[in-house]
Order: sequence, then structure tokens, then C-alpha cells
Amino acid sequence: MKNRTISQIIEPQLVMEGAGVLLRRSISPRASNEQDPFLLFDHFAFNNPLEGPLRGFPMHPHRGIETVTYMLDGVTSHRDSLGNSGEIGPGDVQWMTSGRGILHEEMPRRSTSGNIYGFQLWVNLPAAQKMSQPRYQEVNASTIPVVEKDGVTIRLVAGEVNGVNGPVTEIAASPLYMDVKLTPGSTFTHPIPRGHTTLAYVFEGVGEFSGEAVESVGMVVFNDDGDQLEVKSDAGVRFMLIAGAPFKEPIVPYGPFVMNTVEEIQQAIADLRSGNFVK
Ligand code: FE
Repeated sequence: MKNRTISQIIEPQLVMEGAGVLLRRSISPRASNEQDPFLLFDHFAFNNPLEGPLRGFPMHPHRGIETVTYMLDGVTSHRDSLGNSGEIGPGDVQWMTSGRGILHEEMPRRSTSGNIYGFQLWVNLPAAQKMSQPRYQEVNASTIPVVEKDGVTIRLVAGEVNGVNGPVTEIAASPLYMDVKLTPGSTFTHPIPRGHTTLAYVFEGVGEFSGEAVESVGMVVFNDDGDQLEVKSDAGVRFMLIAGAPFKEPIVPYGPFVMNTVEEIQQAIADLRSGNFVK
């Protein structure tokens, strides 16, 4: 097994989204599609009361993508055009496949401790599935498998670790999505197929990724030069490990839509205007 080396470390940028929500964004949708099949990664952490009242993401559409919300603290309330509604609480995951279209609202709320902490990942859909039926996979914290070994604790959302499978399945990108925590002095290794895009979002502590020190917060992008990932930590580290198969298709991102051609984007806008977006 050969360890993948680091290609770059992206420093998240503070951005405003929705009705004025402050986010740390490390990846955003671009036609260059460098992290194919991953389009966007946002980290929301509004832990300073001086930031004022929380605003959220009022009704907005999505087409052609999947949005994955993982909360660690606080709650996100959601409702959508299909009649679904609910809350994503600490440790819960919502894997939403927009397919041809949904309209939804996402409203974060602080926990009793005053904190809100979570991540949203956007995963692309292949051309053949962009106009598929919308689908939700809602995963309660208690049903996410926790794999513990030699000082490493893994909360497994999607993918496989030591014969254990994550609850989110049948996703076109065959993704790996897990929350990995290393206690001081531990080592984590995990096989990753060659050709799969591999990212690690480091959000607590500091670790050595293939021998290179990475401090939180930062998005580590790996080269496709090995078949496993190796992380060691003297002080302890926690990160989201994200990997998946690229689709290698042209993309045209436009706000909450990611399609393959300009015509498909124009169609999405026309469908929204004519009331045919959600059928
Ligand atoms: Fe959304």
C-alpha cells in the first residue's frame, strides 16, 4: 500500500449566504470542477453571540446535485416542496438528492449551549441522474455506526470500515464520508481506490497527513498517487474524510443548480418561472 501525498491545503474563506449566514467555505462550484464529484464544502460555526441573531436559508431550489448536512451542535429545521419537514440535530445527517428539483428551507438554530456547528457538502450527480426523482436519506445520530480501534473513533456516514457499512447507500459517486477522531499518539490508515478524489477537512487539533503537519481548520486535497490514506497525531486531531469517484463530465454551475450544459441551466430557470420546477 502506498500513502497518498498532499496536493494542496485550502484555507476556508468567510462568505455570506442565504439571508446573511456566515460560513467558512473551502470548495465552491466551478466549471473547472477540480474536486469532481464534490462541488462545495461549507462549515457553519456561529459561536459568537456578537454575531447576532441567526438567519437561515429561506425557500430556495436545487437541481442536479446532492446536499449533505451533518450537524455536530445546534439544530437545522427543514421543510420542502415535497411535504417533508423535520430537524437535523447533533450527530444527525440528511443526504438529500435533489434530482430534477426540490424547493426547500433550511433554518439553523443554536443549541442550549449557544453553539451551532455543522457541515454541508454538495456532491454532483452524473448526467443520467440529474433529472431523477428527488430522494432523502435521513439518518438519526443513534443509527450512525461508530467504529473504535486503537485510539481512533470513526462515525461512518457513507462507505465501509472494517466490514461495517455506513447507512447512506446507492449514491452514484460511491462516496466515503466519515467523521474521524484520533486521540493523541494514534494512527489512522484507510484504503482509498486509485482514481477517487480524496479530501480531508481538519476541524480540530493538528495531525500529520502522509508526514505533513496540518492544523485546523483546513481542507486537505490529496494527490492520486497512492491507494491509502495515513494520518498520525501527537496532539489529537479530528477531520471529515471525503472521497468519491469523479464523473468526468462537463458541468455548468449556476447558484443552486449544477447541470451539464447552459441550455439545461436555462431550462431550470424557465421551469422555476413557469411553476414546472417541482412536479
Ligand atoms: Fe439548500
